[in-house]
Amino acid sequence: MNAENFIPHSRPFLGDSEQVALAGVIASGRLAQGPRVELFERSLAAFVGVEGGVAVGSGTAALEVALLALGVESGDEVIMPSFVCAAPLVAARRIGAVPRIVDIEPDTYAIDPVAAKQAVSPRTGAIVVPHLFGLPADMSRLIEIGVPIIEDCAQTLGAAQEGQAVGTRGIATICSFYATKLLCTGEGGMILSDDEDLLSRARSMREYDEQPSIDAGSFNHKMTDLQAVLGLSQMERLPSFLERRGAIARRYAEALGAHQPQSPVIPDDRTHVFYRYVIRVDRPLDDLIERLGQDGVDCRRPIFRPLHQYLHLSGFPETERAFQTALSIPIYPALTPQEIEHIVKVLEEEFR
Ligand SMILES: *Cc1c(COP(=O)(O)O)cnc(C)c1O
Repeated sequence: MNAENFIPHSRPFLGDSEQVALAGVIASGRLAQGPRVELFERSLAAFVGVEGGVAVGSGTAALEVALLALGVESGDEVIMPSFVCAAPLVAARRIGAVPRIVDIEPDTYAIDPVAAKQAVSPRTGAIVVPHLFGLPADMSRLIEIGVPIIEDCAQTLGAAQEGQAVGTRGIATICSFYATKLLCTGEGGMILSDDEDLLSRARSMREYDEQPSIDAGSFNHKMTDLQAVLGLSQMERLPSFLERRGAIARRYAEALGAHQPQSPVIPDDRTHVFYRYVIRVDRPLDDLIERLGQDGVDCRRPIFRPLHQYLHLSGFPETERAFQTALSIPIYPALTPQEIEHIVKVLEEEFR
């Protein structure tokens, strides 16, 4: 395979509308946080179905600001699953909070509500609930625990459990617009909420000057209008992006059939938007990733390293099992029909 035929694990989908939008901001001479950031906040809040949003520089910054705006303090505990990228751990530690890592459910890879409940203590400040790979976590059971929930929608927008959209049920929700996420602004993030007080605290922490007060945690977390117009262009295309992801997922499911490897599990009460297509395999992952790469398909472990491994903790059997058996294959709207058929052919050769 030469480099031209190599299919990357992810790739943004940018086009003329993004180019035109960016040129407009440059022509306006107003590059930093301005009217487009505000418009992007209102548009995404409306799409998700909440009152408002506060745009910041990254999803990790959004987690940090959301925790602070919620009133989580140094020494408080923040419950989070082990099988997630390091952002929630990094955000909690930056504000001096103590991460309480819990295991996941085997089929959905989502935080286990029973384990989350067992981890609650008098010092619990929040639970961070990532909706991983495009599938909502079990919010109905997590809400019953009675602890404030921050929904992490960095990988999932537009999906629902029991007809209730992700991002509308926690006290706050965070998003990421990193280059390879559902919506891309290069780097970027947002805090979303129905709680006006929480949003206004987040807004005042985003900048260091000309604020009613300098809250603990205030910093320069601003997004730029250059990023926001990219976000606005991408939002117009989001429904078609999600449709395309669904169509590619159906093609993969049909090709893989009902046996090994196992296709993503979608519980009856939920919808999946396929940010990732994560299959469960029955053979050593590193060798498999190497073989598929030689055939031109860049597959990855969906999580680089579980959080309990960073912290040298033991006893997370479902996370360990997922780490050993879960494989993410390329799925994104920029994939061409030829690329999709090549991926299907390579998977069929490997698994049939
Ligand atoms: C990407 C991601 C983040 C962090 O977002 P950044 O914009 O990269 O800081 C947080 N949580 C999850 C689940 C993510 O996938």
